[in-house]
Amino acid sequence: MPYEPVIGLEVHVQVKTRSKMFTRAAAGYGEPPNTLTDPVVLALPGVLPVMNKAALDRVIKVGLMLGCEIAPVCKWDRKNYFYPDSPKNYQISQYDQPICTGGAVEIELPGPARNLLGEHRRIPLTRIHLEEDVGKLNHAGGESLVDYNRAGTPLMEIVSEPALHSAEEAFAFLTALRLIMIYGGVSDCDMEKGQMRCDANVSVRPVGGQKLGTKVELKNLNSISFVRAGIAHEIKRQTAIVEAGGAMVQETRDYDGQTGTSQSLRSKEMAHDYRYFPDPDLMPVKVDAAWKAGIRAELPELPFDKQRRFFAEYQLPYTITSVLLPDRGLCDFFEEAAKLSGRPQAVGNWIANDLLRELGGARIALAACQVRPAHLAGLVKLVETGVISGNLAKEVFVGMFQSGEAPESIVARQGLRQTTDAGELDQWCAEAIAANPKSVADFKGGKENAINAMKGFVMKQSKGKANPKLVDEILRRKIAG
Ligand code: ADP
Ligand code: MG
Repeated sequence: MPYEPVIGLEVHVQVKTRSKMFTRAAAGYGEPPNTLTDPVVLALPGVLPVMNKAALDRVIKVGLMLGCEIAPVCKWDRKNYFYPDSPKNYQISQYDQPICTGGAVEIELPGPARNLLGEHRRIPLTRIHLEEDVGKLNHAGGESLVDYNRAGTPLMEIVSEPALHSAEEAFAFLTALRLIMIYGGVSDCDMEKGQMRCDANVSVRPVGGQKLGTKVELKNLNSISFVRAGIAHEIKRQTAIVEAGGAMVQETRDYDGQTGTSQSLRSKEMAHDYRYFPDPDLMPVKVDAAWKAGIRAELPELPFDKQRRFFAEYQLPYTITSVLLPDRGLCDFFEEAAKLSGRPQAVGNWIANDLLRELGGARIALAACQVRPAHLAGLVKLVETGVISGNLAKEVFVGMFQSGEAPESIVARQGLRQTTDAGELDQWCAEAIAANPKSVADFKGGKENAINAMKGFVMKQSKGKANPKLVDEILRRKIAG
């Protein structure tokens, strides 16, 4: 009997705020251990939490971007457990009244893009809630050290419905979600810094079945690629078990990305009883229409909406939009240059090929790049109007990239203007014919391509400045002549 996988993801994303979730201690990464703390973070006696409104603003923003229902009232609950990563012995979270419910993440389905926009599907969400992150334990040399810098950082948890059906789809889900967070300025989602973390729930069932199979939760998937590899491994493992007539046990497993293996951490019987209850130190939060409207006014265009618009408005193909999309700044750069030049497709090509190549070569980000949209638009115009050849334009672009100089000024300073001077062109063509008797004979004998050798000669003599169209005309006339 064939089986199909069913996957639901629980994604934790750190919310980018200056201070922590319930106190004004700074939130940050990479600081000396235990310096981003204060009495609230350390849970000293008598302290009281105060909610960071900016964190809730950002989660509401995410909820609105994803089409979630925003709760008119949400509240804070204590999730009780004993572990050294939380000095309070509980974590403040949201249990039965999360800030967001429903909504969906649009994903691009894996596989080659079957049309100019790719194929998409919306993956429904169960809920999004806000909580506080916990500290970090470092085990080394037989010792365990605790660092509370991360403790209390605002952390949202996004829970998907069990609606993904392959490791590739889970990968696409995380890629799309990450980009939405970045577009919204809500989080940088740098997985190396732990800003985005994912637990994957995986089960298998007979193809076409309605009932969900017993799920296994995979923990410690700390990169999007490890999520994909871990899920693929788990699907194989479960399929082998059920195909052999075995039954799954509900458990939590740890996937090791280095070795590509997993091992059981705990079974359902050992699952925690967190004894959630409303936090008596914090008031429930009312989110009224005005609050939501204020945030709604600042929502960015979603990545795939931008891709659709770039296609509709500029006829920009998938090959270009798919490289622009991951960088919102690059999309803005494109649009500005496209508007200034009136040549969106040429601009798209320049960015996707030349600009990205130079940025990669110089290992710099767009923000540090000296080429401005107006420069690129200017360069495109110089080519369109025949002032410089396409080949020379490539060199001008590199010059622009290195110096930040405007293309018009590079062309003028280096005398790169394409020449249409008849006398000069005539002279170069005559030389080309004299120097290539064999090509002339071949061309006369019907070998159309033989003319290219003479064109190349002229281009070399003119240092790329000869107008190729005129050169072609003059050569043909002279040879026929
Ligand atoms: P738990 O009570 O163990 O936390 P939930 O029902 O809250 O489980 O679901 C947690 C996550 O697991 C969600 O992302 C959900 O989509 C996913 N999930 C639940 N049941 C299954 C299943 N049988 N197979 C795959 N994923 C599942
Ligand atoms: Mg749950």
